[in-house]
Amino acid sequence: MERTQEREPGGRTPAPGALRRVQSFVNTIDLEGGQDRTGDVRSLRRWLLERELIAEGDSVSEGDLRLVIQVREALRALAFANHEGVPDDEAVRKLNRLAEGLRLTLRFEGDGRARLEPMLSGVDGAVAGILGIVYASMVDGTWPRLKACRRDTCQWVFYDHSKNRSSSWCSMSICGNREKARAYRLRRKE
Ligand SMILES: [Zn+2]
Repeated sequence: MERTQEREPGGRTPAPGALRRVQSFVNTIDLEGGQDRTGDVRSLRRWLLERELIAEGDSVSEGDLRLVIQVREALRALAFANHEGVPDDEAVRKLNRLAEGLRLTLRFEGDGRARLEPMLSGVDGAVAGILGIVYASMVDGTWPRLKACRRDTCQWVFYDHSKNRSSSWCSMSICGNREKARAYRLRRKE
């Protein structure tokens, strides 16, 4: 069971369905506030256990932590690229390299649907599961709405529910206004 997520900045509604898990995965670090909820092996293990993404007996290593951080930041880069709709080449290359060792298989369900399921246990399986959700969301068309806030120092991942898919900031009242104020100051200096 996914735990109830903290309130999203700007009162935004989180991503729908399983994509919400990807959103909370990328947002485990608050780049601006510096708080990282999976900053060390212990906290990563706790985060994964709480979401039943690993089992009690699974170990978590420093290598696992590095994998998680790399996948998380590559996904953030893809979510950032969703503003323009042009994929980030470097993030794509990185994800392809990382995904090679994370085996997924096609599983048909009783309801006649199929989904990608991790073949490995532990952190590899957990990360593979996250990538499986990303893939499903690319297929069902929800992925382009997952965006990283445009303000460089923030990059919090939000779900753009707006009709024309035009949201740039996690919160208009915080990041939107700060960006506007910055642009105004820059213009005055010219
Ligand atoms: Zn923001």
